[in-house]
Amino acid sequence: MEQMTTATRPVELVRRAVPTSEGAGVNLVRAFGFQETAKLDPFLMLDDFHSDNPADYSAGFPAHPHRGMETVTYMISGSVEHADNTGRHGRIGPGEVQWMTAGSGIIHEEMPQVSEERLQGFQLWVNLPAERKMMVPRYQEIRREAIPLVRPAQGVEVRVIAGRTEGTEGPVRQLVVPIELVDVSMAPESAYEASIPRGWSAFAYVFKGEASFGREKWRAGEEHLVVFGDGDAVRVSTEDDEARFLLAAGRPLREAIAWRGPVVMNTDQQVNEAFREIREGTFAHRQANII
Ligand code: FE
Repeated sequence: MEQMTTATRPVELVRRAVPTSEGAGVNLVRAFGFQETAKLDPFLMLDDFHSDNPADYSAGFPAHPHRGMETVTYMISGSVEHADNTGRHGRIGPGEVQWMTAGSGIIHEEMPQVSEERLQGFQLWVNLPAERKMMVPRYQEIRREAIPLVRPAQGVEVRVIAGRTEGTEGPVRQLVVPIELVDVSMAPESAYEASIPRGWSAFAYVFKGEASFGREKWRAGEEHLVVFGDGDAVRVSTEDDEARFLLAAGRPLREAIAWRGPVVMNTDQQVNEAFREIREGTFAHRQANII
């Protein structure tokens, strides 16, 4: 008979995010990207943009296409205005999430708004499985109040954005790929153990303070990515510092990835086809579903 024991996931990697420039010249840090797709499948990329200086972000991300993947934008402070080829536009403000499924094709712009307030936000890319890459594009916009806050332990607050954590379901509906995405705040001298389904990829990204991860208590401070090996749960603790981090897990797709810029397909031929459509002006879907 199989023994029912909880295995703490080992820490496989702790690494600092890498400064990079994206869009029309937005200075940001990349927690992971193209090189790490095998370890982090179904996640493709995580960018962290934060600055007090509008020169770092005011150029924004003018009109650009996406196909075959999802972009998840989560703002901590400041806001991003967006508009797309279907005529849809809006603003993602502090504590809000935009979950955009590009599917067969969206051309959009994302412009961080200049303000006195510090800008801080994230964009996570989630891959789509082969049979859903060409689905009709769709959006979900999640207001701050819709994100449940749970307190699983003394000094620990978990904002549940997507998936089920601590028995609480996040507001993102109809996930194409099973995912959990939470924003965890921990006071000094606190401890948290988060259950994550076995076999799923999992990572944490620290954006405030410092925490220790895994049995071996690997320390990770601001702008650090922590990648976990397999197991049932992730263990985190804090000492003198508080900590705030994103914790994400997802069921791997295990499919071939052909990725060029904002287009993520399964074969080079499909990528070439997308870029041919972009050149010829036939690329984007004219409609997007709102759910
Ligand atoms: Fe985009």
